[in-house]
Amino acid sequence: MAGLLEGKSTLITGAASGIGRAAAMACAREGAKITIGDVQVEAGQATVEMVKESGGEAHFVKCDVSKAAEVEAMVEAAVKKYGRLDCAFNNAGYEGLTMHIADSTEEDWDKVMAIDLKGVFLCLRAEIRQMIKQGGPGAIVNTASIAGLVGSHGMPAYTAAKHGVVGLTRVAGLEYSKRGIRVNAVCPGVIDTPMVERLVGGRPKVDARLLAIEPIGRKGKPQEIAEAVVWLLSDHASFVAGFPMAVDGGIIAQ
Ligand code: NAD
Repeated sequence: MAGLLEGKSTLITGAASGIGRAAAMACAREGAKITIGDVQVEAGQATVEMVKESGGEAHFVKCDVSKAAEVEAMVEAAVKKYGRLDCAFNNAGYEGLTMHIADSTEEDWDKVMAIDLKGVFLCLRAEIRQMIKQGGPGAIVNTASIAGLVGSHGMPAYTAAKHGVVGLTRVAGLEYSKRGIRVNAVCPGVIDTPMVERLVGGRPKVDARLLAIEPIGRKGKPQEIAEAVVWLLSDHASFVAGFPMAVDGGIIAQ
């Protein structure tokens, strides 16, 4: 039986780690041909090897998503390799320093905005241009967060950037769905990845506080976000556009 993304050229950013790596594996399982964009070269290559070992197709492009020229070159590399671009998962992200607003630095604000918000804009712009050039169709998922839907204590820049990603997703959904390009977002809850490990920093109290946020009683697995991404990218989600989908163990239900 054909996979949900059979033969689709699929670009995934931030796939050297965590949710992006799990998404690369899940999309490849569904028959997608993967381009991985990340700043981490060795770990990005390792994801390529994992995809290949599982029987899939993948290649790596070094890309800092906050730099327009690098993003455009990454999309070009995907098109050069597979002939077109059908799907994209704009997932690269940086959590920023954990601080209240009054203690925050301008430098960290700028870094979070550059990666988490401008990075998604630059990727969306380059991907949509390519999809329009091809005459469509296309499907794109951005990684927002529950911090894109509600306030997240101690993460002002991250929360503002992720709310921005939700806003951009809604605009893109409005602007391009008639042209056959669907843009949606996933809003993960607390997921067991290196990002959360960094936030916890080996402190059991912080770990317990993060766990307590989750009504479902546990952290999510990167694979649980990846399955939502596969669905949103696939034709099974053909009537879904501009939607920030919470995959969060029930946090938003509270
Ligand atoms: P992670 O740290 O494991 O992965 C993030 C990836 O992004 C890494 O591979 C990193 O190298 C890459 N990256 C960072 N800056 C980059 C840049 N400038 N250009 C290209 N790549 C860059 O974290 P994760 O938890 O897998 O995070 C993936 C996404 O999910 C992020 O957007 C994050 O904000 C979001 N998210 C995570 C959680 C969670 O609980 N883990 C919750 C909500 C949202």
